[in-house]
Amino acid sequence: MADIGTLYIVSAPSGAGKTSLVAALVEKLPRLRISISHTTRDRRDGETDGVNYHFIKRESFVRLVEQGRFLEHAEVFGNLYGTSADWVSGTLRNGEDVILEIDWQGAAQVRRQMPEAISIFILPPCLKTLEQRLRSRASDDDEVIRKRLAGAREEMSHYGEFDYLVVNDNFERALHELAAIVEARRLTTHRQAVRQAAVLADLLSDSETR
Ligand code: 5GP
Repeated sequence: MADIGTLYIVSAPSGAGKTSLVAALVEKLPRLRISISHTTRDRRDGETDGVNYHFIKRESFVRLVEQGRFLEHAEVFGNLYGTSADWVSGTLRNGEDVILEIDWQGAAQVRRQMPEAISIFILPPCLKTLEQRLRSRASDDDEVIRKRLAGAREEMSHYGEFDYLVVNDNFERALHELAAIVEARRLTTHRQAVRQAAVLADLLSDSETR
């Protein structure tokens, strides 16, 4: 039997530190990949096409939706975002775990299709910190920041739909908590029975016959 990876959904309001935490998590743990979403949003300074997102035109996005190429898609702050269904299923089949960094609407769609997915919500420690983090992002103008603050409250109101809650008041602790969730999942009997098949076969073999 092949090892099938686990799908993790990670959501958070903008400014909670989700992207940095998830990037550090994949550095820390092997066999864990981040899905690169498609978006119609403009590329920000410091972002690279094919690394942070696949930046595409609205027409191309709509075509991909019509072709059923997205596992989920949603409109966030006036831009469209979607997760490639083929990439996710192929990577999971390879035995690697996959992280989707998506909003609560996408999380709800994925949960319906893949109820076995594990969802994690990351919260900032307080509203003041969230505001400061949003304002320190020079790439967005004031109007965008105001919209994101309002959106953050809306996003946070959905925390109860998630399996795990992590508060990012201390980066290292939050990272440790995320790693603990993934590692505990990897130790479930269901997955260990596959990964440790040789060990189990050895331990349970009839030693009399050897
Ligand atoms: P940003 O534009 O700041 O990178 O992301 C804005 C919001 O869109 C974040 O909440 C992020 O999680 C969400 N997002 C990014 N990619 C996807 C995606 O593929 N699907 C959905 N539903 N949301 C996404």
